[in-house]
Amino acid sequence: MFFHPFAATCSLFLILSSCVESTEISIDKEEGAQITSSAETPTNIIFLIGDGMGTSQVSAAYFYGEEDAQPNFSRFPILGLINTTSGSDRITDSGAGATAFSIGQKSYNGAIGVDMQGEAVQTVNELLEDQGWQSGVISTSGITHATPASFYAHVAKRSQQYDIATSLVHSNISFFAGGGQKWFMNRPDSLNYLDSLTHYGFSVGTESLGSADHSKRVGYLLANDGLLAKHEGRDDFLPNATAEALEYFAQSDKPFFLMVEGSQIDWGGHENNGDYVIQEVLDFDKAIGVALDYAEKHGNTLVVVTADHETGGFSLSGDGKSMSGYGEISPTFSTGGHTATLIPVFAYGPGANYFGGVYENTAIFSKFFEALGQ
Ligand SMILES: [Zn+2]
Repeated sequence: MFFHPFAATCSLFLILSSCVESTEISIDKEEGAQITSSAETPTNIIFLIGDGMGTSQVSAAYFYGEEDAQPNFSRFPILGLINTTSGSDRITDSGAGATAFSIGQKSYNGAIGVDMQGEAVQTVNELLEDQGWQSGVISTSGITHATPASFYAHVAKRSQQYDIATSLVHSNISFFAGGGQKWFMNRPDSLNYLDSLTHYGFSVGTESLGSADHSKRVGYLLANDGLLAKHEGRDDFLPNATAEALEYFAQSDKPFFLMVEGSQIDWGGHENNGDYVIQEVLDFDKAIGVALDYAEKHGNTLVVVTADHETGGFSLSGDGKSMSGYGEISPTFSTGGHTATLIPVFAYGPGANYFGGVYENTAIFSKFFEALGQ
């Protein structure tokens, strides 16, 4: 007999309260098929940040990606826009930009996990860790760089990368992958922080993904500082590290918060190098695909993609002279720095609805908790 679990759950809840916000997975015993109802509350969050990625950078995926393949950006049903202005400047840096997401407050440019007064504030993943969640950070920059650091460190200035490395050692992060060996190994205090990571239960890989012991906490430091740029030969590190993190977290029943940063979209913007930006956006889109595939397969996973700010005043221009130049795109830039343009937000999965609309970057933090019913 076919049993419809959602209808049954629904009518029961209609009597008790309202028929929403319940996640029901039932097994049809005769058919043996798993039936998943539409979950309203996520048990996992994957948060992807394309550093320096404005709408033109996203648009590049539509003109420079594989022919006949839609970018993964097209798979999101919910869109928003954020104002990324920081607490000190109209135009944010990556420290204040990521800190707005991680602590839910506008702070000054250069801040890492601290408020306007320089006081440490618990980050979204630290608050969730207190509730038994696992958390992870991945970046194509050094793992002590501003964006990933804002999720596990609390320091006054982003340049304090030795202190940030110390914070990572003492954090509750379960999985990290990126570059930045030099902040752990060639330190002014002469300590070898690879040994410290091992002491605190990490299996550390310095050569390649896939080499760490998944029965321990996992850390990858795969370059002295930032990883290679994609256009200079980086492999599929970002999608592969994302896949390995998801495999790692799926081993346990604990919920997880995973932050994945496409760090170098920003670096290509600073260089005003169109090919650099485009290759990094396409690579980031692949990582988004890995996250969405996981969310589609496992359910109960909220995927949110956004950026801390736009970099370069990037645009997909024609030749600028006449309509006859509309047949070709020549990427152009208006600045070597960041801009104040509003930034898109993409959301998929349970709780995604909270991310529609136009709002401040700090609301990303509160929307995570709203999506969790907290
Ligand atoms: Zn930047």
